[in-house]
Amino acid sequence: MKKNKKTAKKIAKKIAKETQELKAGKSPKPPKAAPKSLELLSPNPGSLAAGPSRSRSTPSSGTEKSARVKKILSQVVPTPVVKNGLTEEDKIAQITSHFTEIMKILGLDLDDDSLYKTPQRVAKMYVKEIFGGLNRHNFPDITTIENKMKYDQMILVKSVEVLSQCEHHFQTIDGFATIAYIPKKQIIGLSKINRIVDFFSRRPQVQERLTKQIADCLEIILDTPHVAVSIQAKHYCVIARGIQDAQSVTVTCDLRGDFKSNLATRSEFLTQVPSARLATTAL
Ligand SMILES: [Zn+2]
Repeated sequence: MKKNKKTAKKIAKKIAKETQELKAGKSPKPPKAAPKSLELLSPNPGSLAAGPSRSRSTPSSGTEKSARVKKILSQVVPTPVVKNGLTEEDKIAQITSHFTEIMKILGLDLDDDSLYKTPQRVAKMYVKEIFGGLNRHNFPDITTIENKMKYDQMILVKSVEVLSQCEHHFQTIDGFATIAYIPKKQIIGLSKINRIVDFFSRRPQVQERLTKQIADCLEIILDTPHVAVSIQAKHYCVIARGIQDAQSVTVTCDLRGDFKSNLATRSEFLTQVPSARLATTAL
C-alpha cells in the first residue's frame, strides 16, 4: 500500500513537471484526431470561432470570438454540466489520483511497469482527448462562405466518422453520420462539418443528444432551417456487457425544415442514409 502511495506521488510529480513543460510550450502537439484549437483563426468576418482561453489576457478578437462560440453553444441543446472551476491541469491531477484508487480497489499492482502510468494516461485521455469537447475553447475554427453562387440544392456529406462515449457506461460509441443542408446565404467548408461532429462527439453522450447538438449547431451557424442529421452507431455498452449484442446498430435522425416537411426532400435525404444492414458491414 505504501508503495502505491509512492507511485501516486510519483505520478503527481510527473504531472506537475509536464504541466510546467506544457506552459513552456515544450509539450507535443495534440493528436491529429483531437479537436482543433482556435488559435489559427483567420480574421475573416464570416468566422464563427472563438479564441483559446489562454489568450484571454490579450485584448480584442480572442475575447470577441470566445463570446461568439459561447453564444452558439448557448443555443445548442446542452450537455448536463456544472462548473467546478478546475483547470485542465487540476482535472488531470485529480482524475489520476482517483483512477489510482479505482485500480487499487480492483487489486491491480500499480508498481508493475505496465500499469503504473495508467492512471495518468486515462486522466490525460479523458481531459484532452475523448472528453475535449466539454471545453468550449476546443470548438473548431468555423468559417462560413457567402453563397455567391446561389446554390439552392441539398449539400450532403456522408460517412462522417463518429467516435464518442456513452455517458451511462463510459463505453465507446462507434459509427458514422450523414449530414445535409440546403443553404440560404451561407455555405460551410465541408471538413468543418466533420469538425463539428468531432467536437460534440468528444463528450459523454447519448446518441439522441449528439444528433440534436450537431443539427442545432449547423442550423445556427448556417442560418438555415433546412438541416438533416442521421447517425448510425454501435454502442460498446451493448456489445461488451448486458445483452452483449454485437450486431445491433442504433439509428437516429433529426430532420428539420424541408427535410421534415417536404416529402421529396425528405426522401432524397433518406435514400442517402445507408440501411442498418449496410451500416453493420461498414462498421
Ligand atoms: Zn451505455
